[in-house]
Amino acid sequence: MDSKQHRHLKQAIAIRFFDGQTSRERQGRMYPSDDSGMVWVDLEGDSDALSFRLKDGLIRAAIGQTPPMIEFAHDVCIELLQMDLPDWLTPTDWTESRLAWLKRMWLGRIWRWESSPRWILVSVVVTIIFAVLVLQYGIPLIAKQTAYALPEHTLDDLGVSTLATLDHDTLKHSELPIARRIEIREEYKHWISANPEREIIFRQGGELGPNAFALPDGRIVVTDELVNLVANDYELLAVLAHETGHIERRHALRQSITNDSLKALIIAVTGNTTSLLNETPAQLVGLTYSREFEREADDYAYELMVQKELPLHYFSDILLRLETVGGGENDGNDSLKNGLKNYISTHPPTSERIARFEGHS
Ligand SMILES: [Zn+2]
Repeated sequence: MDSKQHRHLKQAIAIRFFDGQTSRERQGRMYPSDDSGMVWVDLEGDSDALSFRLKDGLIRAAIGQTPPMIEFAHDVCIELLQMDLPDWLTPTDWTESRLAWLKRMWLGRIWRWESSPRWILVSVVVTIIFAVLVLQYGIPLIAKQTAYALPEHTLDDLGVSTLATLDHDTLKHSELPIARRIEIREEYKHWISANPEREIIFRQGGELGPNAFALPDGRIVVTDELVNLVANDYELLAVLAHETGHIERRHALRQSITNDSLKALIIAVTGNTTSLLNETPAQLVGLTYSREFEREADDYAYELMVQKELPLHYFSDILLRLETVGGGENDGNDSLKNGLKNYISTHPPTSERIARFEGHS
């Protein structure tokens, strides 16, 4: 050891040294040299000191609990055993590439982020926003992809059990003449869908009133009250076009997958399963859809009516008619408890739907 080295020994700091060849770490000390931008490294067990040019390395400031380090080519690395950089290591006078400078600024900034409460708050907020976006858009998107990939008959059992539940609790046999039912089925086939799987089922609606809804298996229940309410069959077809939109866009399956993903997520995050017990029958059987699904079904109806040259006002006409008769009918506690409601209350505001529908043209 020469005298030059010796003068700076009192500035030595403890380090760990990695030679980039083996994972073995070696203890040692590092101290500045007289030559600007050079450092000496003494390793335990070695008689000769190593020297490094600082500008060949990249100084990384402490990040969280990770101490500062200097990285050199070929994975050679000097890790400081203290969190602060010594004064003589603060990069001031040595030339450096702009890139290295930018990197260090950036790392210094991360370090500041990690240590500042304000930035911690910001990162918490960003995380929450991200989680909300996943819930809002990510899961529905996955549900959509999955629903279209699954066979159309996936929810057939749910359709059968849903109708059985409704038949037991709410619906009654239709009193419509058979000829009238056949007529409506023929019109549906002609104007809306010739798919033999699409079946119209007639029932008395009871507390569901004038109503139509798609079952998870793709059948559509139409109540006698709705058939008797419409001024003409085009109004009925407009409602059926909307319900067919729910079927074609696989809303029951998407809703079911979304609900299950949400359940899985809630359980994963909270470990709590009791929140799942509050679902109403209406949610379980898919009588209520999200606004997005209602818009999709309205868009489907719109496109179909334009394609078949059905005048669009029939859609607005029946919605307004449903609104005049539908309000206030189902205020009983029973129907609220069961979540079974009239057509208007299971759909977005009529004025909004009509405005959107007419806004297309
Ligand atoms: Zn709907």
